Parts: sequence; structure tokens; C-alpha cells
Amino acid sequence: MTTRRTFIASGLALGTTTILPAGLVAQEDGTHRFETADGPVIVHPIHHASFVIEAPRTVIYVDPVGDPALYEDLPEPDLILITHEHGDHFEPETLQAISAGKTQILTNHATYDLMSPELQAVSQRIANGETMNLLGIDFEAIPAHNTSEDRLDFHPPGRDNGYVFGIGGRRFYVAGDTEGTEEMRALEEIFVAFVPMNLPYTMAAEAAAEAVAAFAPSYVFPYHYRGADGGTQDPERFAELLAETDAETEVRMGAWYAPDEL
Ligand code: ZN
Ligand code: ZN
Repeated sequence: MTTRRTFIASGLALGTTTILPAGLVAQEDGTHRFETADGPVIVHPIHHASFVIEAPRTVIYVDPVGDPALYEDLPEPDLILITHEHGDHFEPETLQAISAGKTQILTNHATYDLMSPELQAVSQRIANGETMNLLGIDFEAIPAHNTSEDRLDFHPPGRDNGYVFGIGGRRFYVAGDTEGTEEMRALEEIFVAFVPMNLPYTMAAEAAAEAVAAFAPSYVFPYHYRGADGGTQDPERFAELLAETDAETEVRMGAWYAPDEL
């Protein structure tokens, strides 16, 4: 399958050739491929916190926001995961535009409460620590929150979700907006993880490397790394720090931002 993306939202049309920074291990079209017992899982980074996981039997969109045109060349979502209510993760207009008749949504309670009746009708709620089977996939909601005293207002404990789910015998972990919580550190046998790093909203690259080393996934994508007021974190710095630990984790760099955004 060939998939083409154009960065319409950023005003930069890259066409069929995506220019990738050095160090990326990606397919020519910017996707990343991971083998599972069910077949290949293709990860399509879209932007910042938004991405698509194309599994053999299920297409999962994670926190899709922005111009619906960003998603028009991708297969329709069977399931949309929402981690929390912030605008870089939850945009009702985008959800409405990209949902197909079959699309289900899995979200935390607080975001569900902000949804229109139409979106609520296709949504399931799950709280921290709960599990749910949807479309034959086991999901667990992992707490996602700040732990630094001066950042608790951004993502207070108990409200937002990360997700762990299994595809073809492999465990995937979407951290959401969080610092390195005890629950994150205690995760086991994660195959592919998506971990945020930006200030002031989540954590510094140093803290992210330390937390990821604690649960040592096979692969990790630094994502959600642009911040406010100089809070943007360097994913290469994260990779260097992680390489200095005992964790045998391979860092995958996604094209999360257009080159002129970096
Ligand atoms: Zn947030
Ligand atoms: Zn965010």
C-alpha cells in the first residue's frame, strides 16, 4: 500500500517526497513499520500529538486534530483514541469530519462530557486503571498527569488517559500528556511507546529519557515536543540520554513537524 501525505495545514505541500532529518528510520513515505503476529503495523505520524496506527485488521487514530485533509489519504478509522480535552488532542470538528459510519471513539470521562450528543453516541468512556475490549483489542487506560507541583493544573491526576493496547501479541503504549508517573515506569513488555516531552506542559527531555529507561520499551517515539516560551525539547537530546542508560530501546524519529516549524 502506498500512502501519500501533504502538509496542507502547515501550508507546506511536500508531495510524494518527504524530506526527513538525519537519523530517521522510516519508510520513504515517512511511515514506520513494525512486525506483529497478525502482520505489519504501520505508524503514520501526522502532527505533534496526532498519529494513525494502521494494524492488519483495525485502523486506530490517536488524538486526531487539525485540517481533515491531513487524513484524507489514510484508511478510515475503525477506532479513535482520545487522551484528553486539550485542543492539540481533541477537536470536535475534526472528529466529525473524519469519522466514518463504522468509527467508534474511546475517551476519558472529562472529554466525553465536552462532546456533542452525536459524538457521545459513538463514544465509550474509560477511566484510569480500567480495561475495555473494543473491536477485539484489549485497551487499558494508564494515568496521564503532571507530577511537578507547579504543573499540576495542566494535567491533574485522575482526569486524562494514556492507553496500552495489544495488537498481534505486541503491546503499544500511547502516553498522552504526562510526566514520568509510577504507572508509566512500571509498564512491562511494551513494544512501541509514544512519549511526550515539552515544557511547561509535560516534561523535559532529561525526565522523559529517565522514565523511558525505567520501562524500556523495544521502540520509542518522542512526540509532542514543541512547547511554549522556549519549552520545545530536542528529541535528539532525548535519544542521546536514553542511549547512555541500560535500556535497549530503539528511538524512532517521526516527522511530527514541518521543517519550518522546528
Ligand atoms: Zn494537554
Ligand atoms: Zn498536548
